[in-house]
Amino acid sequence: NQQILLVKRPKGMPTEEDFKMVDKPVPQPEEGAVLIRTLYLSVDPYMRGRMNDRKSYVPPYQLNEVITGGVVGEVVQSKAADLKEGDIVLGNLGWQKYSVTGSNQVRKINPDIAPVTTALGILGMPGLTAYFGLLDIGQPKAGETVVVSGAAGAVGSVVGQIAKIKGCRVVGIAGSDEKNNYLVNELGFDAAINYKTTPDIKKALADACPKGVDIYFDNVGGDISDAVISLLNHKARIPLCGQISLYNLEKPDIGPRIQPQLLITSALMKGFIVSDYADRFDEGISQLTQWVAQGQCKFRENIIEGFENTVKAFLGLFSGENIGKQLVKVADP
Ligand code: NDP
Repeated sequence: NQQILLVKRPKGMPTEEDFKMVDKPVPQPEEGAVLIRTLYLSVDPYMRGRMNDRKSYVPPYQLNEVITGGVVGEVVQSKAADLKEGDIVLGNLGWQKYSVTGSNQVRKINPDIAPVTTALGILGMPGLTAYFGLLDIGQPKAGETVVVSGAAGAVGSVVGQIAKIKGCRVVGIAGSDEKNNYLVNELGFDAAINYKTTPDIKKALADACPKGVDIYFDNVGGDISDAVISLLNHKARIPLCGQISLYNLEKPDIGPRIQPQLLITSALMKGFIVSDYADRFDEGISQLTQWVAQGQCKFRENIIEGFENTVKAFLGLFSGENIGKQLVKVADP
């Protein structure tokens, strides 16, 4: 059973040397458990935080242990009454080819509703993050202007489309022209800004948001967020979802202080973790499923083939390799 372990705590940007691939015997399920063959595994920015030895909302990964995260797999052996061989399930399993877990630790997914990969993307954790962050904290109203950073990624691309459904003007910020063309031409964003090539982001944002910014869905933090926050309207809302531009900094970042801007606009900035909404996940999945079925929410997946490319796929999140949800295909069903 091939597995990927964390062997060093990354300093700054993680490297291949922080991980190690090992081969162990395939485990056998006991009563009530199943053996799952990994089909797709998810690499996510939050995993970077778990590689530090620091208290957070999830415990750190332990050194020399398997990295865990979202996996879609196939049950290949079952000692549980509620799952049978061939069932496709979603679970928080490992960067490994096979996992054994209690059948109550995984959720069966129906491949007839949507491709099984969506359980890790638009119909899974990232989609729910967009849904609850935007709707519950952002409270979008028709005619308002929504800016989203990390706009072409798994979360950001869904945020922008939900904001369009709610009748807002939507401006995305992402790191390439290809991404921005996708946002405007395929997802219906009103405008998109390439933060890597635009010399004055604040001016470009002011041009794209002639009526100011009512909601800023923040996935990245840093300079980009400082620029957006300088354009907030009265009673603006900021769902604070992620700060990816800061995850690999070795020293805390010092930038403009945003508090005066929040104060003078009576703005609300609220951090959240998607699991805060666990008791409403069914609502979120059912609404997202409907929007996908009706073509109102489109999605892309950036699928790298081969378990041995998992670390590369993870590292690519920090250089912006992905449009939409980044996944690794480990095996065919
Ligand atoms: P994405 O699919 O958006 O992938 C990460 C993207 O971030 C990259 O494609 C890249 O796009 C962008 N990026 C990387 N480094 C930087 C940087 N230094 N500055 C600006 N942009 C950068 O990932 P997710 O959609 O899964 O996650 C997006 C954010 O949401 C992350 O911050 C993540 O931690 C957070 N999150 C929070 C959750 C919560 O519960 N609060 C749950 C899930 C995610 P580009 O080419 O545009 O640079």
